[in-house]
Formats: sequence, structure tokens, C-alpha cells
Amino acid sequence: MTEKIGIFPGSFDPLTYGHLDLIERGANLFDRLVVLVAVNTSKKSLFSPEERQKLIQESVAHLNNVEVRVFADGLVATVYQELGARAVLRGVRNAIDFEYESSIAAINKTQYPDFETILVYAKDEYRYLSSSLIKEIAYFNGDISKMVPKHVQEALAEKLN
Ligand code: ADP
Repeated sequence: MTEKIGIFPGSFDPLTYGHLDLIERGANLFDRLVVLVAVNTSKKSLFSPEERQKLIQESVAHLNNVEVRVFADGLVATVYQELGARAVLRGVRNAIDFEYESSIAAINKTQYPDFETILVYAKDEYRYLSSSLIKEIAYFNGDISKMVPKHVQEALAEKLN
């Protein structure tokens, strides 16, 4: 039987417990989950793609079917085809995410008709979490201990102080 591969693309600048929850759930849905760290053209990131990759790798060490790659150029649809993936995983926290994800899913279908998107609802306790909010709180030395793993918290402190 062929391996069912899922892709989870995102900025992960940096990884939050919301992202990690999605990765853990994705690891249960697919034989192999490939987390793709996007080198964003439009968003300015705090961490380099390699730093973001490393922070995720440290968080998923307990999951043996998860792999983390930097996705330097090209379209997600291209990587999807190259890997022979079955679906892209994305998270939905609210109606804004839903609208945004709907358009991305439609655009990806224009590039590759077999492209499937699986939307997973954020856990209630993580619905308000976003990397940008966390950076804002960390910048002003607020408590983010329940929002990101300890090593991410330390990396943020180092970066921002
Ligand atoms: P992007 O710039 O591609 O949206 P993000 O790192 O912001 O990258 O998000 C990657 C994916 O993770 C998106 O599908 C987003 O909806 C999802 N996500 C972000 N934060 C959470 C969260 N707290 N709970 C569940 N999913 C989340």
C-alpha cells in the first residue's frame, strides 16, 4: 500500500502550541506528515527559515512520522505533486481563517486539480493563539509560557532582548 503523505505548510514564526497541536493531530491522520516552513515573500519574519525549522524539529522529536523541511521556492502545489501528497493540512481558528483558507484551497486547485485541503479546527484553548500575538507579548516581556514550548520561549527572549 502506498504511503499517505500530508503536508502542513506555514510561516511558523515561531511555532506555537496551536501549530504543535495541529502537527500532532496531522501525524495521526497520515502515514507521514511533512511540515513545510515557508520562506515568505510578503511577510517579514523574525526568525530565519532555518531557525524556524530547528524550533519545530525540537518540538516534534517525539513524533517519528513527522519531517520538517524549509520550503525555499516554488508553490505548495508543486511540492504536493513532487511528494505525491494526499492532502494539505491547515488550521482554522475563526471565520477569518476560514475565508482565507477557502481562497487558498481554491487557488491551489487551479494549479493542480487533485489538490485536497483538510481544514482542522483549532482546539478551544488555542483559538486565540497566533505567532504575531505571541511576538507582541514576548516583546513586552509578558507571560507566554502557556502559548509556546519552553525552547521557543527562550529563543524569543534571546531574539528580542
Ligand atoms: P501562514 O502564514 O501560512 O498562515 P502560520 O504559521 O500563521 O502561517 O499558520 C500556519 C497554519 O497554522 C495555518 O493554517 C493557520 O491557520 C494554522 N494555525 C495558526 N495558529 C493556529 C492555532 N493557534 N491553532 C490551530 N491552527 C493554527
